[in-house]
Amino acid sequence: MARRRRIYEGKAKVLYEGPEPGTIVQYFKDDASAFNAQKTGVISGKGVLNNRISEYVMLRLNEIGIPTHFVRRLNMREQLVHEVEIIPLEVVVRNVAAGTMSQRLGIEEGTPLPRSIVEFYYKNDDLSDPLVTEEHITAFGWATPQDLDDMMALALRVNDFMVGLFLGVDIRLVDFKLEFGRWYDDNDYMRILLADEITPDSCRLWDIKTNEKLDKDRFRRDMGNVEEAYQEVARRLGILPDAGPQDLKGTKSIN
Ligand code: UDP
Repeated sequence: MARRRRIYEGKAKVLYEGPEPGTIVQYFKDDASAFNAQKTGVISGKGVLNNRISEYVMLRLNEIGIPTHFVRRLNMREQLVHEVEIIPLEVVVRNVAAGTMSQRLGIEEGTPLPRSIVEFYYKNDDLSDPLVTEEHITAFGWATPQDLDDMMALALRVNDFMVGLFLGVDIRLVDFKLEFGRWYDDNDYMRILLADEITPDSCRLWDIKTNEKLDKDRFRRDMGNVEEAYQEVARRLGILPDAGPQDLKGTKSIN
């Protein structure tokens, strides 16, 4: 059998050429990294759970009219997505102060923000993804003013929806990161799609009553019970793999 072509290997995912033109296979690894890959490790079963969680959230978003790259899940660790031209920005939406915002502005973690705040970071590992303004983005041509308007509007809609989705399972959505891509339809019209992933790797999720962290901060801050936290998010969303936690290995053979 022909070996499929590996397009890109990132910290938590591998991308392969998809079976049809214009598609890509996203393979979710158990590998985790933090602080621009200065800290690395493995969260056992994470890839299987993230594959499910991202599928679930993107499908729900699709139902309210948010265009996403998700096509279908292929197996425990892989999903088929539309091939897009990734816009080199990380779009972060925050509802509660945490992480770099708390550090940068001296706001105690857990402080609710007066309103949801959208930030843009330039995706560049050599520069550790610096915070940038709309001025930088349009001046350097990373996105047009129209792209920015679209991304901002989509990010806020995604936020409103996800706040409610997680509140329904007793989780506070503190903040999260989105990535968008340009996709051309059959008539060569460009559309901005939500791409990448939405998982506990890319969101801060706190238990509504205890404020227990159910996300990658447990790994970043060596808090323990990392696997259990990811499982708990999947369990609350009602999407643990069929056989339960013991079914989290998935296939390791990825070629
Ligand atoms: N985030 C992410 N990838 C990154 C940086 C941030 O998914 O490269 C997510 C992170 O999980 C959090 C949100 O974006 O939910 C805001 O992250 P922050 O700027 O506080 O940085 P961090 O503390 O994660 O380095």
